[in-house]
Amino acid sequence: MKTDAALDNACIGWRFDNSYARLPESFYVPIQPVPVQTPEVAILNHALAESMGLNLGVLSEDAAAMLFSGNALPEGAEPIAQAYAGHQFGNFTMLGDGRAILLGEHVTPNGDRFDIQFKGSGRTPFSRRGDGRAALAPMLREYIISEAMYALGIPTTRSLAVVTTGETVLRETPLHGAVLTRVAASHVRVGTFEYIARKEGAEGVKTLADYVIHRHYPELIEAENPYLELLNVVIKRQASLVSHWLLVGFIHGVMNTDNMAISGETIDYGPCAFMDAFDPQTVFSSIDYHRRYCYGNQSHIAQWNLARFAETLLPLLHAEQGKAIELAESAIQSFSRIFQDYWMAGMRKKLGFFTEETEDSRLIEDFLTLLHKHQADYTNSFRALTDQSQPDNDLFQAPEFMAWHTRWQERLSRQSESKQAASDLMRANNPAIIPRNHRVESALTAAAEQGDYAVLKQLLNALAEPYADLPQYDDYRKPPAAHERVCETFCGT
Ligand code: AMP
Ligand code: MG
Repeated sequence: MKTDAALDNACIGWRFDNSYARLPESFYVPIQPVPVQTPEVAILNHALAESMGLNLGVLSEDAAAMLFSGNALPEGAEPIAQAYAGHQFGNFTMLGDGRAILLGEHVTPNGDRFDIQFKGSGRTPFSRRGDGRAALAPMLREYIISEAMYALGIPTTRSLAVVTTGETVLRETPLHGAVLTRVAASHVRVGTFEYIARKEGAEGVKTLADYVIHRHYPELIEAENPYLELLNVVIKRQASLVSHWLLVGFIHGVMNTDNMAISGETIDYGPCAFMDAFDPQTVFSSIDYHRRYCYGNQSHIAQWNLARFAETLLPLLHAEQGKAIELAESAIQSFSRIFQDYWMAGMRKKLGFFTEETEDSRLIEDFLTLLHKHQADYTNSFRALTDQSQPDNDLFQAPEFMAWHTRWQERLSRQSESKQAASDLMRANNPAIIPRNHRVESALTAAAEQGDYAVLKQLLNALAEPYADLPQYDDYRKPPAAHERVCETFCGT
């Protein structure tokens, strides 16, 4: 077994280090994945593997299935389940990896460090009443949407493989079991800080914060107050991230503090989805009864989550509690402005503006109001401004739109950049293709219910070049017809 693994390491290119497993014992539990019955490869991400210095091409299908099910671990992996807590829909809970295992960190030939994590790999001490397993469709859903986010240029964890287990998992109905291999800058979450703060107090938080600074933000090591700077940089990353989500119409769906990564990557794709017709109240998640995590609330929730992060850092921010609170509050308050700046900058690009005018926010708001009023497709309406196509909607014929269009054209003519340059800028910032929910669902149904992966692979191809105008993918640009609309998504736990 060991020689096989050593051989695999040499051929595949694994280079494991386990820095998280060197942290104090209370941060995790060492644990092996529970072997699965008959693993089979559903999908492998060769492009991602290659970018990490891994060559999966040397593996037989069987060997790949053994590897990515956890039945045969790469040499050097020291599997652990990470401990964390989280505010779920506003309520504090102790959690931890209940169905995931961190194999360790793969260090690429360039020296980049990535967590390699299995999701659906069996029970752990954190499983509570769960079975530790995952169903095929939700794992493929994470694969599709995380890869789409990557292609859109949005920070995200990625998906290296999905294998089926040959076992049945029981949800509302019996489903095929699967394991997803997730690649992340790290899995340290706001919830990790909350857990350590409860369990270990200020000393533990300091250990975790130092770890995070060394791993993600080494430029802060020499800062006068590195912990305040850590808070500031995480605020900045999250403000940027959530602005990106809004700009492409993404709704995360479960922005609990355990699903917010300190690295600033989008993490934990559950009931997430992209909005078709523009409506800030849009929610897909079947359990988000009060629209807490709706499209338009996401920046407020990010700020709320960051306040929970700041609370854990208080003892490190200043020796005097009053001063510490003052520093934290002012950092958290800065979120709104930072977020607004990122969002405005992104919106200006979407409308082809190179310069800044004070009237821009009015122009942007007025366009969004028109989209909302006419229930126009968010993605296609922006893209149609660029390529002068007519979306399937009456918006572009409406007199109020014509009036807006004139103001917009006048605005464009007040900048020295050419119309062509503006149009190129817009094309690079308004995707033509997003993972529309009805397309995602039909790909998942074909794969998980009929074993037909052609629909899914074709969708992945289309999503890989979201800003291009490739006629063969025109069909993917269509919003759902009334009967195709999928309004509800599930976390699949
Ligand atoms: P999530 O909603 O995916 O962020 O998960 C929230 C928590 O529930 C995490 O601690 C998960 O590990 C845990 N969890 C979700 N599904 C399962 C499952 N099937 N078995 C055990 N734990 C689970
Ligand atoms: Mg989670």
